[in-house]
Amino acid sequence: MGGVAGPFGRRRAEGYDRPVRRPRLRPTRWLPAEPRRRSAALAAVAALGAGGAVALMRWRLWSAGVPSVDPAPLTDWFDPAELTRNREYRRGLWTMAAVGVPLAALTAIGVALLGGRWRPGVVRLAHGRPWAAGIIFGVGLSLVTFLVGLPLAIGRYSWGREYGIVTQGFGAWLLDAAKGLGIQAVIAAILGAGAAVLIARAPRLWWLAMAGVVAAFIYLSSLLSPVLIEPLFQRTEPLRDPALSAQILDLAHRAGVEADDVKVNDASARTTAANAYVSGLGDSRHIVLFDTLLRDFPPDQVRMVVAHELAHVERRHVLQGSTWGAVLAVPGLLLVFAVVGWRTGYAKSGPGAAGCDLVLRRLAIAAAAAAVIGTLSTPLANWVSRAYEREADCRGLQLSRDPAADIALHQGLVQRSLGVPDPPAAVRFWFGTHPSALERIALALRYRDETER
Ligand SMILES: [Zn+2]
Repeated sequence: MGGVAGPFGRRRAEGYDRPVRRPRLRPTRWLPAEPRRRSAALAAVAALGAGGAVALMRWRLWSAGVPSVDPAPLTDWFDPAELTRNREYRRGLWTMAAVGVPLAALTAIGVALLGGRWRPGVVRLAHGRPWAAGIIFGVGLSLVTFLVGLPLAIGRYSWGREYGIVTQGFGAWLLDAAKGLGIQAVIAAILGAGAAVLIARAPRLWWLAMAGVVAAFIYLSSLLSPVLIEPLFQRTEPLRDPALSAQILDLAHRAGVEADDVKVNDASARTTAANAYVSGLGDSRHIVLFDTLLRDFPPDQVRMVVAHELAHVERRHVLQGSTWGAVLAVPGLLLVFAVVGWRTGYAKSGPGAAGCDLVLRRLAIAAAAAAVIGTLSTPLANWVSRAYEREADCRGLQLSRDPAADIALHQGLVQRSLGVPDPPAAVRFWFGTHPSALERIALALRYRDETER
């Protein structure tokens, strides 16, 4: 292995990596037409496959029994003057998000385009072994992406501090950010090593195997998040409010689910906003209430939140959401494969340093393509999320039978979380994981009208 650097230098001189030095303005000139046609055909198959998968899951894995409602009129439920500060705060966040959304993809594209500069060093460091090169690439890309995004993340943090919604000190915040980077780097190292080995060994089918790896990863992270990830960022303890516990058991009984795992976290150490969530699958599943929710909201509204979370459990939304991701990974990776083939052809990569360099080049292009596809599919993911949230709202109302508490809850959440009840259409399209407060209030009103009849 020690002699790799020598052969590497010699092979380089022989021009094996000429694609790197080709004029950038005519990127596909060196490629024969055949791979380009093949890439176009594969991309078409991927697009058709993705469309078919979305249609199938829209049919089989969608919310059921949710009436469509128009948003409630703003001035019926909110004082526009009291929303001025909220709008200021959110406008700042949206602006930063608009800059931040394309940032990761642009970073990955930049890293791939500058490949000629860093690939020889990585190949040498990895002694020409694809798996080692994949690890170095994964960790490196995580680090670069983190550093590029850091100023914006600090901007978001300071903005939240200024408006008093973020309560965490800078040191603790930075520590959390570093932990996030650590997790990211470990995941990227595993995926990078796996992808590099598959690209080297299975030049025609690595995308399919990689789709399997990604699918397994999605289910595994849904399963293990409550045990491995969440404890790194928060402390939880069992809910110790006997009255609320009894109500939760009653709601859970109505939903036909087990609710012995309701916890309270220490969110107040980080924020004044109130929230709750359900995560995990099977035995790892738990419902977590923010301590700010218990502190700042009356019991009937907390009960409403719990009913909503129990509805997520009853309708298996964590599992269904994971399935959307796992299924769409197949056409997604096929499209990535088509992009990689378009840039580098479909030939086997060969042994030694030259082969490792080609694997690395393909890996960098794959990462960039995956980042672009991931960014562009954000609206799709949020569209699915909103459907499940709407279903949980609807079912939560049936479980709690308390639309008045639901309406007061959404008014309180807007106030406490500096929310905007009527975000602009573009914001809802790109970032809306939940229906707007006015839509949620309209749903409660409709439930009230139907049950009163
Ligand atoms: Zn929800």
